[in-house]
Amino acid sequence: MAQRDLPGSLPGARELMALFAPLRFAARQEGAGLERLAGLGDTVRGAIGLARRAGAPESPALGRLASEGESFDRLPAAERLAAVCRMAAELGSLVALPIDLSALARRGRIPAPAQPPGASPSTPSPPPEPRRPEGRAALRRRLATPLADVPGAHHAPRALLEERGRTTVEGALEFWPKGWQDRTQVKRVADLRAGEPGIAVVTVRTVRQQRMRSGKPMLKVATAEGASRLELVFFNPPPWRHKQFQVGETILVSGEVTEGYGGVRQMAQPEVEQVAEGDSANFGRIVPIYVGPADHQHPALRKLMKRLVDDWAPSAVDDLPPEVLARRRLLGRAEALAQAHFPPPGTDLVAAAARATEPFRRLVFEELFFLQLALALKRRGVRREPGIAFDASPARRAAARALLPFTFTGAQERAFAEIAADMGRAEPMNRLLQGDVGSGKTAVAFAAAMLAVRSGWQAAIMAPTEILAEQHARTLRAWLEGSGVELALVGAQARGREQRDARDALSSGRARIAVGTHALLEEGVSFARLGFVVVDEQHRFGVMQRARLMEKGVRPDVLVMTATPIPRTLALAFYGDLDQSKIDELPPGRTPVETRVFGDTQRKKAHEAARRELASGRQAYVVYPLVEESEKTDLADATSGAEELRRILAPHPVALLHGQMKAEEKEAIMARFRSGETRVLVATTVIEVGVDVPNATVMIVEHAERFGLSQLHQLRGRVGRGGARSQCLLVAHFARAGDEARERLRTMVRTQDGFEIARADLRIRGPGEMLGTRQAGQPIFDVADLYRDEAILDEAREDAFRLAEEDPGLERPEHAATAEALERWASRLSLARVG
Ligand code: ADP
Ligand code: MG
Repeated sequence: MAQRDLPGSLPGARELMALFAPLRFAARQEGAGLERLAGLGDTVRGAIGLARRAGAPESPALGRLASEGESFDRLPAAERLAAVCRMAAELGSLVALPIDLSALARRGRIPAPAQPPGASPSTPSPPPEPRRPEGRAALRRRLATPLADVPGAHHAPRALLEERGRTTVEGALEFWPKGWQDRTQVKRVADLRAGEPGIAVVTVRTVRQQRMRSGKPMLKVATAEGASRLELVFFNPPPWRHKQFQVGETILVSGEVTEGYGGVRQMAQPEVEQVAEGDSANFGRIVPIYVGPADHQHPALRKLMKRLVDDWAPSAVDDLPPEVLARRRLLGRAEALAQAHFPPPGTDLVAAAARATEPFRRLVFEELFFLQLALALKRRGVRREPGIAFDASPARRAAARALLPFTFTGAQERAFAEIAADMGRAEPMNRLLQGDVGSGKTAVAFAAAMLAVRSGWQAAIMAPTEILAEQHARTLRAWLEGSGVELALVGAQARGREQRDARDALSSGRARIAVGTHALLEEGVSFARLGFVVVDEQHRFGVMQRARLMEKGVRPDVLVMTATPIPRTLALAFYGDLDQSKIDELPPGRTPVETRVFGDTQRKKAHEAARRELASGRQAYVVYPLVEESEKTDLADATSGAEELRRILAPHPVALLHGQMKAEEKEAIMARFRSGETRVLVATTVIEVGVDVPNATVMIVEHAERFGLSQLHQLRGRVGRGGARSQCLLVAHFARAGDEARERLRTMVRTQDGFEIARADLRIRGPGEMLGTRQAGQPIFDVADLYRDEAILDEAREDAFRLAEEDPGLERPEHAATAEALERWASRLSLARVG
């Protein structure tokens, strides 16, 4: 939003408005708080400097404000409140003040020295009384007032809010408009143009009920403004519509203008409002639009909102630290609430629709700030506990690397160095390792685990599926050959000789590395000396599970690996307490996977491609979706698909793999595919993660429209693992594919970069579903959007981490409100990760 967002449009006004919050904050201080207010002077001087740079014209008031700022920090505490009032008064003559500050300004206004002759003897304004400002607790209680107790709150709009769970004043104030409409410029009917949206004030002449040719009812309302006529048309009007119009009454109408029969101007289904004189909520300003098409409720809802904004919003407590408000030049919470609903004239409505205006910047900042603050404090807490210092010397690192049959890529080496440096310090490590499918995270995790093992500790690697755990075990055992280090694979069934052995080996300390699924978390699994924990494909595990595994050791170092990259913003927002390493380079010799999309009817082409690869000795995957809700039909689909492929691709052996099979059965099928005995593997998504068969060069995905983007990306990562050219063939039922599905498929064709795909996924699905932690459709944030608000997230994060460093206990008086708010925010954002 530009500078012109202010009444008066004074250049530099925005910079000056940044003083609202610090002044309000200062005014609420008492006694000791005021004494420690030093710094306000600085803030005032800073804001004036910025305002001048932004072109604020010099004026006596600006000069006086500046000199108040100059002297403030040296004032004795007893004089500070008065100075705050004076500054509010000066500020008030430069920009429009919100209600609470106007009250403050009145106390600071110095009586005019000379009265004009004949004026009634003035009562000199009382000196600023050292009134105890309302405490924060009282203010918070005030905003928690039930809507039902708001005097004069009309029933209909109140019910509308309450139905949406907005039962208190604050809840209602956080019911954000869906959009806005500029009603500062009401047009004359004569100036309305067909094809454009228009707003006019007209008088009702006649109201006629008619029938359309189809026999459906229609309401025609003839209106006029002077000699200009405007016809309103409503199709299938609900019963209340008719009663909305009284002949002779003046109404405000807004809608798309069309040209009717005989050139008469028309509006079809316009929004209609009774306009009363002085109705400042609905008229002569930019007005908010809240819910759906129930337009008859808008005027009343706006009136209620205007009342809440005017009378109640000024009580909003500013939870953000004053220094942050000043540094980022954010609106105070009260202003933000007010302007979020009723933007000042001149507001860019396009920016408003994107919520890219100042009030939303403030609200978004607040939301992200508290999330980051929670993460920052958590991280600090973890860091203060003593952890294990492993031997991560260059010699040990080299020995760990030497076990691998390849040399690390540059990116792997960097990640390993970061992890090793953490492990060498006596602080608990909490690190996230991100990398695309097949980028070699497992190898890095293994080398790190070896540092722990060689320092005399045990390491545990937790995988999301049985198949992946088994594959990890196999890979790691091969790398460990000849090293004398024993690995235990912990399976789901605790019974059985092998499993008992594995568990004994871990509790006795004989086995140094444990690999398993969440079976590792079972009570029956204990470790002699667990010092290092790797959680693979984190988003499938809850934080609770991560914590449970950690408890099996004494503050072990933790490495979390994601299955696919997640966008930077999401990583900061939800793993912000973790340090982060990235592998952004694939091992050498990979060739890009050619990706194509086929319609359902072109399946044959995909099969032909598979045939050609099989003929040259390659192998193929065919994947079917499987979701719980339609498990039976999905399974039937995969089963009949396998039958068909057996026929079509004969004589190449085809096997079916699905989640309902017993572990041994699955393992046997995988083993045959790995050995090349089976040439085609038809599978439900159990192969999604981690399967590594380099000879497989074709992947066909059936019902590709049903898969998520990162799922598709994961699947595609199963091919292109050897040096040979590989293909990913997505077969989609376009008839059933929505826009989102089409966009997913297009993204798959366009790029193979996991980080780019992750960003697209964030845009398409939003963070909640992406993390898999939320019910579909339930947003994690109220106003923030991790796709849009990356820049704000960075600022909020920087400020939150700075605060956590400077005042980790949030004990300074100016941070009291922040401390109180933190808890409220933590539960509101349901920061499972912050526990
Ligand atoms: P991720 O766990 O990130 O999906 P993996 O660790 O499973 O990736 O690695 C994928 C494949 O690449 C494996 O076969 C692995 O042995 C191999 N690999 C890993 N790092 C390298 C490397 N630096 N050079 C060659 N091959 C590698
Ligand atoms: Mg992996």
